[in-house]
Amino acid sequence: MSEELRNIIAETKKQLEHLRVLGVEGIQVTAEPVIAIERPKPVVAPRPEPIKQPAPIENVPAAQPMTSLFGEIAPAPVKITPSTETFEEIHAEIGDCTRCPLHLERTHVVHTEGNRKARLMFVGEAPGADEDIQARPFVGRAGQLLTKIIEAIGMKREEVLIGNVNRCRPPGNRAPTTEEATTCKPYLLREIAIVQPKVIVVLGNTAMKNLLDTREGITRMRGRFLDYKGIKVMPTFHPAYLLRDPSKKRETWEDLKKVRDYLDSHP
Ligand code: URA
Repeated sequence: MSEELRNIIAETKKQLEHLRVLGVEGIQVTAEPVIAIERPKPVVAPRPEPIKQPAPIENVPAAQPMTSLFGEIAPAPVKITPSTETFEEIHAEIGDCTRCPLHLERTHVVHTEGNRKARLMFVGEAPGADEDIQARPFVGRAGQLLTKIIEAIGMKREEVLIGNVNRCRPPGNRAPTTEEATTCKPYLLREIAIVQPKVIVVLGNTAMKNLLDTREGITRMRGRFLDYKGIKVMPTFHPAYLLRDPSKKRETWEDLKKVRDYLDSHP
């Protein structure tokens, strides 16, 4: 090959290379098919690994329910502390009580009476005139109606426990003051801890407010179970109120039926 031809070939190569760089893929030089310029294989960047997507929500196993919404900070429900005391010890401690002004006009201290293994307890507000004389709770007219109420749910008076928040008769049957109730209530609570009835029926507004420190009145609170340290508490109307307004007996009956159903289903 002549020197000139070598130069032509070299120059042609340069031109073609230049054209290739400009993007020309081939040129027609004869009637023959276009000679494709062999282009170096494009450098293909390795495809990035697809980013792992989190599993769709519906595939995520459902979160296990927490034992408590607030975990460890949720306060444990307060349960009554079993007591090894006896009623006799408590009554001896009360003695000839002068701890509040009610002692001034009372005849007798009226203690809780009845079955000390009772499943059902009734709590009133304070003794009246008959109770003050006989030293027994709920023995007057209201007490006789209470006995009928107990029998209406298929129980006998001797089967249940009956007491009052206050053990001394307030003069003129006035309601005990909060201070008087606060002084006397701990003895009743100690008796409740001994017996641990399944249900306590609280009779009337004053007894309910003094025993449970509630603000709502009996008309709103009655008929729904409340809790006292794991014991069911049913507020209902006081029998003395039922004597004044017999139309309220129907609601009282509804409340007592709930108590009976609860006791029947919790033998
Ligand atoms: N009313 C009460 O609240 N208690 C009694 O013992 C008698 C009447």
